[in-house]
Amino acid sequence: MAKILVFNNDTDRMETYYRGESEPMPYNTNGTLRVREFRGSSNSSTLWTTKRTMQSWNSQRYIYGSGIPVGFAFKRPWEGGHGTQSQHYAGVAFDVGQRLSSAQRTRLWNSANNSGVWSYVEPISLTPTWVHFDKRFRNSSLFQWRISTIKKRKFK
Ligand SMILES: [Zn+2]
Repeated sequence: MAKILVFNNDTDRMETYYRGESEPMPYNTNGTLRVREFRGSSNSSTLWTTKRTMQSWNSQRYIYGSGIPVGFAFKRPWEGGHGTQSQHYAGVAFDVGQRLSSAQRTRLWNSANNSGVWSYVEPISLTPTWVHFDKRFRNSSLFQWRISTIKKRKFK
């Protein structure tokens, strides 16, 4: 059972959910994103994301039109990852398509890049074996402030 904090961009409030690993993430439609997919290999007991990120996933999944295999989304800084890992720590980024063929991955990358859903899609040259997209946040946002206070507590 994971504790999941979701920053609701519409109300500017943090919401708390408790979900099993095989249950869909809060705000996910049609079970296309399970808790275990969102967390990947992270063993954090608490996960967080934003409502906007979950809605973007729903849109992307619908536009792409088929299953998107998720490597991970959430990752804490000391759990590895890559250059844009701060977006993963904020729970607003996805690394997907690791198990796809290179042609399928290119189709997925094009879909993400053209969907207009994401703030950032990492260039293929930097992500040869996966596709990274995220719904990044302004540093001044309340959500970013909450996350940085959680981070400080964890690092103590
Ligand atoms: Zn990534």
